Amino acid sequence: MLHYHTIPVTAFQQNCSLVWCDQTKEAAVVDPGGDLETIEWELERLGLQPKAIWLTHAHIDHAGGVAELADKFKLDIVGPHEGDRFWIAGLPQQGAMFGFPPAEPFEPTRWLQDGDTVRIGFETLNVRHTPGHTPGHVVFHAPQIDRCFVGDVLFAGSIGRTDFPQGNHQQLIDSIVQRLWPMGDQTVFIPGHGPESSFGRERKTNPYVGNT
Ligand SMILES: [Zn+2]
Ligand SMILES: [Zn+2]
Repeated sequence: MLHYHTIPVTAFQQNCSLVWCDQTKEAAVVDPGGDLETIEWELERLGLQPKAIWLTHAHIDHAGGVAELADKFKLDIVGPHEGDRFWIAGLPQQGAMFGFPPAEPFEPTRWLQDGDTVRIGFETLNVRHTPGHTPGHVVFHAPQIDRCFVGDVLFAGSIGRTDFPQGNHQQLIDSIVQRLWPMGDQTVFIPGHGPESSFGRERKTNPYVGNT
């Protein structure tokens, strides 16, 4: 069985999620943007063995803690899609701009592409490439528990910003409609910021993607 626990980190209250297999207690850390001592404390409290970092995209609030955490626990860095290479290279500048602690660039162990899968313990999640907020953004879909970790693609009542370099509004809408909605209305998503919602609820009520 797949489990997860979400921890808001950094001044941006970014939702870092611990995702684990309860048979092996092996865990992936989705988007460790910062506040690593809090993340480590939760791993310890839940009795988990961290194995990998899974990245939705390389904005500082999602990726600021990756290099340090990976180095400390010898974790694989999985994702995002290679389209975010320039965001990873720019992490030190992003950190300085937003007042984060110094963040180091890193080289992912594995870049992800649309249709890939990622594994933790005995559990497998599906990867979709969802550009628009950033060109290399990906989401992690867990159909066995009807959950999807969507980063900054979609929020309860809103969608991701597209006013960054290589952001694209139409591409973001296409990603949501063509790659998220087919996962089903019952799918509950964990956004990069704020509360969870379901795709069905957003399709009815989200002013940016309602009636799509
Ligand atoms: Zn972002
Ligand atoms: Zn964010």
